[in-house]
Parts: sequence; C-alpha cells; structure tokens
Amino acid sequence: DVNTVSIPGKMGEKGNKSIVLLYDITEIRRLEKVRSDFVTNASHELRTPVTALKGFAETLLDGAMDNPLILKQFLEIIFKEANRLDVLVNDILELSRIEQKQVPMHIERININQIAESCFQVVQQAASEKRIKLQLSAEKEVIFNGDKSRFEQILSNLIYNAVNYTDQDGSVDVLLEQTQDEVIIKVKDSGIGIPEEDLSRIFERFYRVDKARSRNSGGTGLGLSIVRYLVKSLNGSIAVESKLGIGSTFTVRLPYKKEM
Ligand code: ADP
Repeated sequence: DVNTVSIPGKMGEKGNKSIVLLYDITEIRRLEKVRSDFVTNASHELRTPVTALKGFAETLLDGAMDNPLILKQFLEIIFKEANRLDVLVNDILELSRIEQKQVPMHIERININQIAESCFQVVQQAASEKRIKLQLSAEKEVIFNGDKSRFEQILSNLIYNAVNYTDQDGSVDVLLEQTQDEVIIKVKDSGIGIPEEDLSRIFERFYRVDKARSRNSGGTGLGLSIVRYLVKSLNGSIAVESKLGIGSTFTVRLPYKKEM
C-alpha cells in the first residue's frame, strides 16, 4: 500500500529525470488510527469518573445528604473519583508532553540505587499491607550522568506495577547492573504474571489485561506507555518476560555517557 507521486523533468531535456516521492500510506493510516483510538479511549476513560461524580452528587442533592452516614460515604466516593480523574488527566498530559518532546532533558549526576530506594519508600505501605518483600540487588552503586526525573518515573512506574500485580507474601526485586556503556535495570516480581497473548500489547495506551483489577487499584492503563516513551527518549530499550502465576520481569537497558 504505497502511494507514488512522480514529477517529470522538462520535456525533451536530455537525460530526463523524475523525482519519485514514496509515501508509506499504511504507516500514515496506522498513525491516524492510533491517534483517533487514543481520543476515543481517553474520552471513555474520562467519562467513567465524571459519570460517577455527577451521579453521586445528584443523589446527594436529591435528598440523600439528609442521612449523615450516606453523606459521608458518598463524599468519600466523590473524593476518590475526583482523585482518579486527577491522576488520569496528569498521565494523559505527561504522555503527550513526552511524545511531543516538550520535556527538556536535564542531565546531572545520578545514583540509581538511591532512586530505587526512594521508589521503594513510596510503595512501602502498599507492600507491607500485602507482606510483599522489597529488595534491591546491586554489586555496587550505579552512578552516571542522566536525567534524574526520567529515571525516577521509569523505576517508580515499574515498581508500582510490580507491587500492584503481586498478591500476599510475594516479592519484588530490583536488580541493577552497569556495564561500560549501559545501565541495566530489572524489576522482577513474583506476581500474577501476564498471559502470553497480552505481552506484546501491554505497552499500548489504555491496554489492560484485567480492566477491573487495574481500575480498582487506581491504574490508568497509561503507566507502561509512559515508561516506553521515556525509555525511547533515552535511546534505550525495554523488554518483558512473564509466566502466569509465577511472575514478571521487566528489563530496561539504557545507554549512558561516562563524562559530563
Ligand atoms: P495500569 O495502570 O493498568 O497498571 P500499565 O500501562 O502500567 O497500566 O500496565 C498495563 C497492563 O499491563 C496492566 O493493566 C496489567 O494488566 C499489566 N501489567 C503491568 N505490569 C504488570 C506486572 N508487573 N505484573 C502483571 N501484570 C502487569
């Protein structure tokens, strides 16, 4: 499905030349579809909390607020849904900023071990509630010049997912390795795993294996797309291995510069 446009040179000119422009229409159509699917999905995702907010507020105004117990219960739901909306809008904006390369690169000396430890602190409570063991393994401190906030976002999204998709008494391990020119970060969990047929799709925007589980835990379906774009912006790669009921391992490889 390739469109060809041919612009002939001057008639009668010796050694007549043509310029041939090749457009890969398949790719253009694919990108158009990705964009319009995104708008459809985003609108649908945004509508879910908005519908809940309207419904609960309306019921309260219609008289339910006279019962203090119901009033409190509904206000809590409204607060939770407003939060969900907030996270969703932030994720959508973040994704579009990274995609349009609007986030400036800020290079500084960073310590990946420290970044991993601070990500652990954020998920510590959720992990303790499920008695999930968080562990960092690294032969030495991994220090290099890079964009701190991008590394924080990549790691925190992967660690958040690892904890989120792991049940009681599981474990989440972050393994760090540094070679001559690459930093390798593995986030390994003993969680629910990902079915083989879904593996290639989980980096797509809004794609979830189990919609209910993701939504209940406050997931937006955008975390891994954000990770994928961030990794790409750092010229790195991301891969995933998973076994249902055994666990998943996400491996991120990022090149780095030795000197500032
Ligand atoms: P979500 O907000 O739904 O977690 P993500 O983009 O972060 O969105 O992930 C997409 C989907 O991939 C999730 O809904 C989940 O089904 C699956 N997934 C991601 N990380 C893991 C993991 N560590 N273990 C099992 N499933 C995962």
